[in-house]
Amino acid sequence: MAEEIIKLKGLTKRYGKFTAVDHLDLTINKGEVFGLLGPNGAGKSTTILMLLGMTEPSEGTVSVCDIDPISNPVEVKRKVGYLPEDVGFYERYTGLENLVFTARLNGLSKNEAEKKAESLLERVGLSEHKNKKAGIYSRGMRQRLGLADVLIKDPEVIILDEPILGIDPYGVKEFLNLIIKLSKQEGITVLFSSHHLYQVQQVCDRVGLFVGGRLLAEGDINSLSQKLFGNSPYTVEIGVNGHSVTDDNLINIIREIDGVENVSNVNNKLLAECSKDVTSEISKTIINSGYPLTSLNKKEYGLDDIYYHYFEGGTKNE
Ligand code: ADP
Ligand code: MG
Repeated sequence: MAEEIIKLKGLTKRYGKFTAVDHLDLTINKGEVFGLLGPNGAGKSTTILMLLGMTEPSEGTVSVCDIDPISNPVEVKRKVGYLPEDVGFYERYTGLENLVFTARLNGLSKNEAEKKAESLLERVGLSEHKNKKAGIYSRGMRQRLGLADVLIKDPEVIILDEPILGIDPYGVKEFLNLIIKLSKQEGITVLFSSHHLYQVQQVCDRVGLFVGGRLLAEGDINSLSQKLFGNSPYTVEIGVNGHSVTDDNLINIIREIDGVENVSNVNNKLLAECSKDVTSEISKTIINSGYPLTSLNKKEYGLDDIYYHYFEGGTKNE
């Protein structure tokens, strides 16, 4: 059975009358990459701070690696690496010097610290920049240095707050690949917050959609689609010539295909809502029935549809 490493129950944070995090229930398993997804002000950073014992919940419980971060913040910090939104480094020290400094603070001897720093710089792909001052690092390089810094203490869990904000697309891809590699190779549990849909979709085992302090839904992309779009996760847009689009006979023929739940006429095209991918059956059936098929376009719901559904209050069909 999966080992539960982060457990949040009824977790709530109020600032005066304002509720920033509202009865959050969430469990994250060992080795999972979990994306906390939501717009600005959703309560992502507040949740992260409570996980680290850096701010006290108003209600509810938190457990990280079986430790209560509220009563044992120091113990949690030993096991959890945290990369805040704005990583601070000694700008006039090189990347290598910064890491050695952290390693020494973590109790490593000078020799061990240097060895560890060098090997981590290698792992995050910064070896060739190790002797440059951190002050001239790009945002992407700073994030990688931040990741190396967090890895010095061999954490069981890494928590990153908006780690890909402001990195160029190529850097984002590299950074996220690095995170997956770490998680899969070393069984490190990763929790990160973001409002970048596509990247999150690419790397997370599960995501949680967080809006206005509430977790609206969580799961892998497929189960979120299922929850959202029920029996019809696929839509096939069918183009046919002339009056065929209003031909009831054609509509009935398509409706009878196993897996087609509904067919409607939208903007001179037929939209078939389907419970499974029956695109090729649809095309065969139309052609075999002698109708002139002009186009066929399958739409699968992705995270952006899910996001729009929850965040904008409606499905996005374009
Ligand atoms: P996110 O990280 O998702 O952007 P935050 O957790 O930073 O969201 O903030 C959630 C909400 O709580 C916001 O409306 C923010 O203004 C409010 N908030 C955060 N920290 C404080 C604080 N220390 N005092 C008062 N309000 C706060
Ligand atoms: Mg934030």
